[in-house]
Amino acid sequence: MTAATALKPTHGGPSRVVICGGGLAGLAAAKTLVDNGFEVELLEQRPILGGKVSSWRDKDGDWIETGLHVFFGAYVEIYELMRELGTYNRILWKEHKLTYTLDKGERFSFRTTKLPSPLHLMPAVFENKYFGLGEKLTLGKSLFPMLFGSEKYYAEQDNYTYQEWHQRWGINEKMLKKMFLPMTLSLKFMPPEEISAKVVLDVAGTFLREPDASKMGFLKGSPQEHLTGPLCDYIVKNGGKIRTGCNVKTLLLDERKNISGIELMDGERVTGDYYMTALPIHKLQRVLPSELKENPFFGDLDKFEGVPVITVQMWLDRQVTFIDNILFCPDGIIPVYADFGNTTPDYFLDQKAEMAQRRSRLEFVVAPAKNLMHLSDEEIVARVWDNVQSCFPNSAPKAKITKSAVVRVPQSVFATKPGIDKYRPTQKTPVPNFFLAGGYTQQRFYDSMEGAVSSGRRAARALLETHRGQAAGR
Ligand SMILES: Cc1cc2nc3c(=O)[nH]c(=O)nc-3n(C[C@H](O)[C@H](O)[C@H](O)COP(=O)(O)OP(=O)(O)OC[C@H]3O[C@@H](n4cnc5c(N)ncnc54)[C@H](O)[C@@H]3O)c2cc1C
Repeated sequence: MTAATALKPTHGGPSRVVICGGGLAGLAAAKTLVDNGFEVELLEQRPILGGKVSSWRDKDGDWIETGLHVFFGAYVEIYELMRELGTYNRILWKEHKLTYTLDKGERFSFRTTKLPSPLHLMPAVFENKYFGLGEKLTLGKSLFPMLFGSEKYYAEQDNYTYQEWHQRWGINEKMLKKMFLPMTLSLKFMPPEEISAKVVLDVAGTFLREPDASKMGFLKGSPQEHLTGPLCDYIVKNGGKIRTGCNVKTLLLDERKNISGIELMDGERVTGDYYMTALPIHKLQRVLPSELKENPFFGDLDKFEGVPVITVQMWLDRQVTFIDNILFCPDGIIPVYADFGNTTPDYFLDQKAEMAQRRSRLEFVVAPAKNLMHLSDEEIVARVWDNVQSCFPNSAPKAKITKSAVVRVPQSVFATKPGIDKYRPTQKTPVPNFFLAGGYTQQRFYDSMEGAVSSGRRAARALLETHRGQAAGR
């Protein structure tokens, strides 16, 4: 029997796909597959869906988020998906400006204009007074490889950390510490001395080439209500089955080393015609059987690891900033944050406060988090609060924290360390009835909301192609 004949459904109904993992990658794949007439069963370990973008209400009814999520203008597939769901208008686009808040209330910003790229960055270069002309000029010559580097050049830069690349090009050290440090920490929660140069070049190159790529948007409220919830509803309404509380233990193999089923921790076995994992990489490593890892396609996945990160949310008794946008901070442990009291109408409306009485509701990415994970919530909140006091010396001393929440993600996005990019697998695997989705798989946007959606849709398309090939007898 060939692998293809082995894949033909024997039950006479539509082909059944079992998807492990209910984050954006798994949900995006499920949607594409139900749209194409497949019978889909999605297994999620937690009681809630959405994975790293999940959100839930606490006992007071306030939304708690796994992480601060912003949308970039460069994204494509997540917007297609949201348009299909009719939810694209839930993204609120903010002014195309990056504001950096520093110790002792110091500030600098980069604003862009509606000019063709890279001229759109001109105001950012000329209006910024924090960096001197000499400092800015050191960045100037590095723009050439960022803008015009070939794919081969970019791939080679994966052998270096961003810090090495920065120093090799003679770019000013102050720019590394004040501008690029919060950028790499907000991108992948890794400092410049650990992150691959390729990631920063990919992102910076996209921002330079596409005028609106670095523009940022926020959901008008919680991801559950405006992103993952509508996606789950769509899947279920169109015949998909979503099961929470299903902790996948392992993938089962038949004698040809095709996948024959999924075993859950409680002993249940779930079977289908095709299987897809949309798990974080550290979880995939655990559920892959060792026989599969004999093939380097799967064995190399053990080289990946997740980056720790912490999210802190703080409710204050007054407003400490009126900036309706993302904020960066190079000094301390809060590289990127936002005041939802300004950015996210559902949240300030939740507080039933009129505009004049609005209160800050700050959400912070805390990174690098490796040495902070073991601290108590109180200690983490106290350290973040010290940072806030320093960034807002005029308004913060009068403010009081009325409530706070700390969410630790010990292994979040995959670590984009030098040398790892070449091991990112395709969504199609050497096992004909098995497909991979997740930010670590090959696509342009790494581990991000766009990367997850793109990987899920690619995995679904690869499955469709296999299925059609099989139906055509290829
Ligand atoms: C703090 C933070 C901030 C972020 N900010 C941004 C941002 O601003 N912009 C952006 O684009 N991206 C951001 N990201 C990245 C983005 O959230 C992720 O890249 C994306 O959500 C990953 O989706 P995924 O489906 O690939 O993985 P996940 O979301 O990790 O989904 C995997 C799912 O598998 C489930 N699972 C795990 N093990 C099992 C098992 N054994 N059995 C069954 N199910 C299992 C998990 O519970 C989870 O639901 C951020 C991430 C974090 C952590």
